[in-house]
Amino acid sequence: MKKNNFIIVAVDGGAAAGKSSTSRALSERFHLMHVDTGSFYRATTLKLMEAGVSSEDTTAVTQALSTIKLGTSISGNTASITVNDWMPDASIRSQSVNENVSHFAALPELRAFLLDYQRSQVEVAKKNGFSGLIMEGRDIGSVIFPNADLRLFLFADPEKRAQRRAKEGITDSIQKRDQMDSSRKAAPLQCPEGATLLDSSEMTLEEVVEKVSGWIESLLTK
Ligand code: C5P
Repeated sequence: MKKNNFIIVAVDGGAAAGKSSTSRALSERFHLMHVDTGSFYRATTLKLMEAGVSSEDTTAVTQALSTIKLGTSISGNTASITVNDWMPDASIRSQSVNENVSHFAALPELRAFLLDYQRSQVEVAKKNGFSGLIMEGRDIGSVIFPNADLRLFLFADPEKRAQRRAKEGITDSIQKRDQMDSSRKAAPLQCPEGATLLDSSEMTLEEVVEKVSGWIESLLTK
C-alpha cells in the first residue's frame, strides 16, 4: 500500500472529452472525492454575468470577486462549490454560460481567485475521510497539482465529442471553447509534460475506466 494512502488524480482534457463520467466512476471505485473545477469557472462566470460585469473590465471583475465567498458542500463522493452560500444548479450549464465561460476563465484575476480554493480541496477530502482526490479541469496536472500521483489527459476526437454533447441534448460550442482554452496565456489547455495521454475516441466509458483503474491500482500497491 502507498505510505500515506492518500492519492491525488488530476484529469484534464477538452470539453466533452469524458472527464466527468470517468472521474465520477473512478471516485466511486476508489473512494476518492470528486471535484469538477469546470463548475467553479461556470458558477463564478454566472455570478459575474448576473452582476453585469464584462470579462473585458478586469477592474470590475476583481471588485465583484472580492464580494464572493467560496465554500464546499459534499454529497456522496462529490464536492460542490458554493458561492456566497449559493449551490450551483443546472443554470451553470446554460447556453449563455457556455458562450461566456472561456472569456472569464482566460482572466488571470479569476484563475488566481480560484487557485487556493482548488488546492484546499485536498484538506477537505482528508477531513472527510476520503482515500484521495480526483479533480478534473484544464490545468489540474499543469498548474494546480503538478505533483499529482496520476496526471491524466483525456483526448477524444472533436466529432466524437460533439456527438456526446448532442446525445446529452446540450448546445455547446465545444470546439470554440477548446480553441479559446488552448490559446490563452494563463494556464492554457494542454497535455503537460510527463502526463499520461489517453485517446478515448474509440473506447467506451467502461474501457476508459478499466484502463485508468489499472493505473490507479498500481499506484496504490507501490
Ligand atoms: O469542464 P467544463 O467544460 O465544464 O469547463 C467550462 C470552462 O471552464 C472551460 O471551457 C474552461 O474555459 C474553463 N475551465 C478552466 N480551467 C479549469 C476548468 C475549466 O479554464 N480547470
